[in-house]
Amino acid sequence: EAKASQMGRPFVFDHRLRDKAQKRLYIENQLRDVISRDELTLFYQPIIELESGALKGVEALLRWFHPESGLILPTEFIPTAEEMGMIIPIGNFVIDEACRQFGEWRKSLEEHAPANLHVNVSRKQLEQPTLVAVVEQAIHNYAIPPESLHLEVTESVIMHDSQTSIQTLNQLSNLGVHIDVDDFGTGYSSLSCLCDLPIDVIKLDKEFIKKSKRRREGKLIKALITLADQVGLELIAEGIETPEQLKFLQLSGCEYGQGYLFSKPLSAEDMELSILNSKCNSSLLKK
Ligand code: C2E
Ligand code: MG
Ligand code: MG
Ligand code: MG
Repeated sequence: EAKASQMGRPFVFDHRLRDKAQKRLYIENQLRDVISRDELTLFYQPIIELESGALKGVEALLRWFHPESGLILPTEFIPTAEEMGMIIPIGNFVIDEACRQFGEWRKSLEEHAPANLHVNVSRKQLEQPTLVAVVEQAIHNYAIPPESLHLEVTESVIMHDSQTSIQTLNQLSNLGVHIDVDDFGTGYSSLSCLCDLPIDVIKLDKEFIKKSKRRREGKLIKALITLADQVGLELIAEGIETPEQLKFLQLSGCEYGQGYLFSKPLSAEDMELSILNSKCNSSLLKK
């Protein structure tokens, strides 16, 4: 304070900055033993085959239920977890827990179980060669066919990466696991990277879908759908919120999608109920 007034300006404390810094510090402190406190949970969002409306897969999305602060969303704590290295144990937890739940569904729901499990992986995790062993262990422990597991990595990871990440991606791909490029279209993709790296799926970012009514964006989406098809990549549209967006994507030949129009992310329990419900409905329809 004294220093600021010496410089001849009134000292104005930036409350927003203080709150932000304090919030970050708080999150950092709380994150240290988040796993042993058992506060992390996975929610699941369905991925739908757009033509039939059938469930194709589920994406596991991290949720932090803090006893005092309530629900903390991943965008609020994952960047901090990455900076402090906590993303490694958290990421390991996510892989194990998602595979455990998926393995359970495969047993209990049988042919109604989702065919695919999508798990988000941070760039920091890919820099660790041990990621391959973690994934291998989980698919072994829960008897999961490797090709049903999709690891989602964001576009930025794919673009500027270290030799280690590329090697890790190749090893994961050799296990039979699929690699998805998440948030496609938000970064600076060099399209050639899609050919050089072992990529199976692109997930079109929700910002595109939001603007699909505009003429040029609409055409761009159509072109990307065609492009993905031509080079043998599957395409999943993210963030489908309206029937108009769905109609447009269906007419454009987009095969898969997810978004609030179908379902928001659900707890494992609600996901299971929703599957059992639609199973009843479809068997009623058949009669
Ligand atoms: P993402 O992987 O692109 O996941 C999709 C995000 O979009 C999710 O946000 C989901 O709830 C949200 N979403 C789904 N449908 C709609 C829609 O129709 N409209 C809108 N506006 N949003 C929709 P969420 O769960 O808050 O996760 C945000 C991001 O945090 C994820 O983006 C992912 O990058 C990251 N994340 C989530 N879970 C994990 C995790 O286990 N590990 C890592 N490393 N990152 C994670
Ligand atoms: Mg994702
Ligand atoms: Mg995404
Ligand atoms: Mg995203």
